[in-house]
Amino acid sequence: MKIHEYQAKKILKEFGVKTPKGEVAETPEQAKEIAQKIGPKVVVKAQIHAGGRGKGGGVKLAGNPDEAEKTASEIIGMNLITHQTGPEGKRVNRVLVEEALDIERELYIGIVIDRALEAPVVMASSEGGVEIEKVASETPELIFKEYINPATGFLGFQARKLAFKLGLKGDTFKQAVKFFLALYKAFSVSDASLAEINPLLITKQGDVIALDAKMNFDDNALRRHPDILDMRDLDEEEPIEVEASKYDLNYIKLDGNVGCMVNGAGLAMATMDIIMHTGGMPANFLDVGGGVSEEAVKNAFKILVSDKDVKAALVNIFGGIVRCDMVANGIVNAAKELHVKIPMVVRLEGTNVEKGKKILEESELSFKAASSMKEAAELVVPLAKQ
Ligand code: GDP
Ligand code: MN
Repeated sequence: MKIHEYQAKKILKEFGVKTPKGEVAETPEQAKEIAQKIGPKVVVKAQIHAGGRGKGGGVKLAGNPDEAEKTASEIIGMNLITHQTGPEGKRVNRVLVEEALDIERELYIGIVIDRALEAPVVMASSEGGVEIEKVASETPELIFKEYINPATGFLGFQARKLAFKLGLKGDTFKQAVKFFLALYKAFSVSDASLAEINPLLITKQGDVIALDAKMNFDDNALRRHPDILDMRDLDEEEPIEVEASKYDLNYIKLDGNVGCMVNGAGLAMATMDIIMHTGGMPANFLDVGGGVSEEAVKNAFKILVSDKDVKAALVNIFGGIVRCDMVANGIVNAAKELHVKIPMVVRLEGTNVEKGKKILEESELSFKAASSMKEAAELVVPLAKQ
């Protein structure tokens, strides 16, 4: 799960990470009031789940409270397009109003899980502020890394090593070490999958402050953090995925046009593979789960047909725990009730498969039945292209 910058800063602050003074505003009037409290000079920052806001016009300086109000009125409600939002952009619903700080240097610090090494890695760079992906690909020697043994945590000498490599000295060095250790604590205690500060600001006075903050969390650990789960902003998520999560369906939207409905994550992946192998492109990943009740089948259909990109659907069910006849009934009822018009290919296999096929054949709906995954893919891919 992702959260907004202002929410990440709230969490980080609790762990002792230094952040600028600031508050979130939903109206230009609120932005003005905040600027009166913490200003006069403030920076007004669009809050969306995407980076690159500065370049897209979503981060602006304001010299006084009236200017803050005007700037906020321009940013709130705007459709912000950045390299991370896609061409359609994201609507801005609120802004973070923060005290404007004087920049001496912009550095970078980030923590992610290195999946190959099965450990967190802290990355620091003197090249902050810009796109760190560019630094990583063009000048990787400017990124310093410290791998963390999860049993011991991030150790003091490792934090000092990074601060030294960034060329920090004196009190700034000390502040940076404290900052890095606090950042790791926040990352690990809150079960984050990413904590990124870009830029990590060194002020003209030599203070170390998180000018920007981004945190993502491990969804499987969120039940341990109800306070973080409360920060979820459904406006920032794919609407169709939000809908699917209400029904406990495991659904991810993809770019293709073949809708898939499958029971079991492994079978769902294999189904996507064979669609691509046959020259098609899946429109989604959809695992309806091992049990597949009639209700689940109906909900899954609802989600599938609400996606305008789906031109044909492939239902691939293996009847292990479930019986194929029950699944077939579910499909027929759902298709009737929802007036499903897209062509459909159904492959059933397993318990009571003959009964299931009979139910499909006897229904007045036009399904194409396939007896193998290969056949199913070869039938559905051309249908989606028509
Ligand atoms: P991003 O573009 O979405 O990553 O948003 P950031 O929060 O990183 O802001 C983008 C840029 O705005 C930063 O790299 C800074 O150069 C600038 N900026 C943000 N806050 C301040 C501030 O308080 N003072 C000044 N002078 N510049 C700021
Ligand atoms: Mn940034």
